[in-house]
Amino acid sequence: MTDRATALREQGRDIISLSVGEPDFATPDHVIEAARAAMDAGQTKYTPVTGTMALKKAAALHFRRDLGIAADPANIIVTSGGKQALFEAIVATVSEGDEVIVPSPWWVSYPQMVRFAGGRVVPLRTHAHRGFRFEAGELESLITPRTNWVLLNSPGNPTGAVYPAEMLLALGEVMRRHLQVMALSDDIYAPLNYSDGPHATLANLCPDLADRICTVSGVSKSHAMTGFRIGVATGPGWLIDAMGTLQSNSTGNPSSVSQAAAVAAFEGPQDFLTDWREIFRQRRDLVVAGINAIPGLSTPVPDGAFYCFIDASDHMGRFGGDDTKLALHLLEHGVAVVAASAFGGKDGFRISFATDEATLTEAIHRIGKALA
Ligand code: PMP
Repeated sequence: MTDRATALREQGRDIISLSVGEPDFATPDHVIEAARAAMDAGQTKYTPVTGTMALKKAAALHFRRDLGIAADPANIIVTSGGKQALFEAIVATVSEGDEVIVPSPWWVSYPQMVRFAGGRVVPLRTHAHRGFRFEAGELESLITPRTNWVLLNSPGNPTGAVYPAEMLLALGEVMRRHLQVMALSDDIYAPLNYSDGPHATLANLCPDLADRICTVSGVSKSHAMTGFRIGVATGPGWLIDAMGTLQSNSTGNPSSVSQAAAVAAFEGPQDFLTDWREIFRQRRDLVVAGINAIPGLSTPVPDGAFYCFIDASDHMGRFGGDDTKLALHLLEHGVAVVAASAFGGKDGFRISFATDEATLTEAIHRIGKALA
């Protein structure tokens, strides 16, 4: 949709893109400065394949400070984006016929990674009226002897759902009963969790399960560094080693300059995040109120990240039940969104509110007009 929106813009059409998954803020100055300094200092060569010790130490600080996870730098891998860490964890462990439980609506790449590895995607359907959260019992009913991972993503893309601690503690209980099940926790949006209280994550709440949890994080979303391509993961040594073997024989080390920038991101000031969270929270309130005021549209209140997952069931008759047609109709009216079906959902669409309030207000106006 982003590509289509760009093509229409090039034809001179006025299109607002609410389809992108990156913050609209500029990368903080101290991060840019660190990248520049690294280049000036000649840090333009290979680094150790799984990342520099400086960045592993900075990532350990991040895991401890922001996620409450005591991670040893020896059990940390630096990757080219959070995406590569997730891919490596799955490809290193999933064999033909293995099952991976993926809560839906899901981030688009999870099922593709599982299928790439020959695994079977087992959807765990979640619903808007329960804030896109699931009960541990629902998850347990999907476990078989072939289950090897459950995927967790909080705050979540595309729903913005945040998992409360009680839910994760109950999940930990389930894992204690099923020793073959590991958890892959994608916490890349954790610094953009604007619910009250500290961010809850499984490895912090259930340290006794540490040898079966891999936690993925990064700087892409929290520090507006999507183009730098740096992710980090921590987990049991055997898994981190296997991921390193994959990395060694595929991409090699993540960019040396980006790694230096990521050290500055993790170790430098974090206070700007308080402002960013507040800005996202205000935009969230504007978007939720605006969308819920449009007849036939509804969305629960997301508690993190910068997405709203919108139900448009009442309008689907007009589009033959095909939400891609709905998304194309909105594009015709000047707003690019992503159809719910792209995320394993249905009858709706996702918008990103990583753009300013005036643009969001105009976009909501256009969506209302398009569906009137
Ligand atoms: N996980 C989720 C849930 C995401 O939304 C994204 C980015 N869209 C990623 C991982 C990947 O992030 P990165 O750009 O660091 O690879």
